[in-house]
Amino acid sequence: MYAPVDPSQQCTAKSKQSGERCKRRVHPGASVCIIHGAGAPHVKKSARERLQALVDPAISTLNTVIITGVNQGDMGNAVRASLGVLDRCGFHPTQAVEMSGPDKGPIGIVQVDLSELSLEEKVAMVGLIEKLGIKPPKPGEER
Ligand SMILES: [Zn+2]
Repeated sequence: MYAPVDPSQQCTAKSKQSGERCKRRVHPGASVCIIHGAGAPHVKKSARERLQALVDPAISTLNTVIITGVNQGDMGNAVRASLGVLDRCGFHPTQAVEMSGPDKGPIGIVQVDLSELSLEEKVAMVGLIEKLGIKPPKPGEER
């Protein structure tokens, strides 16, 4: 039913019926899975506190990996750790498409009567819409 979980990441609760240890993964920061109480307010609070306590050591570890990697020529780990830090600090590649009108001005709303467009113009318009990542609904599909 569940993929094998690293024992350190396995829920510590035991089944009342079989006595076997739960096979689910622990909720982040908790020692039990969501079924066995990780959603309870006091468990969530403890989990948050445990995770918060790991922030400084994690930053320190990344610092060590970056400095050691650069000094010893292990650039792969240094770059991975650096990217992790940069991503978390907001220096990641943009994931949005920025659109603007002429001369970086506001985008105007254009109404086009499709019946007045030629087939070539409609094909060009579909190409532009696809280029923007907008997928038209399939016939019979709700928006
Ligand atoms: Zn469990």
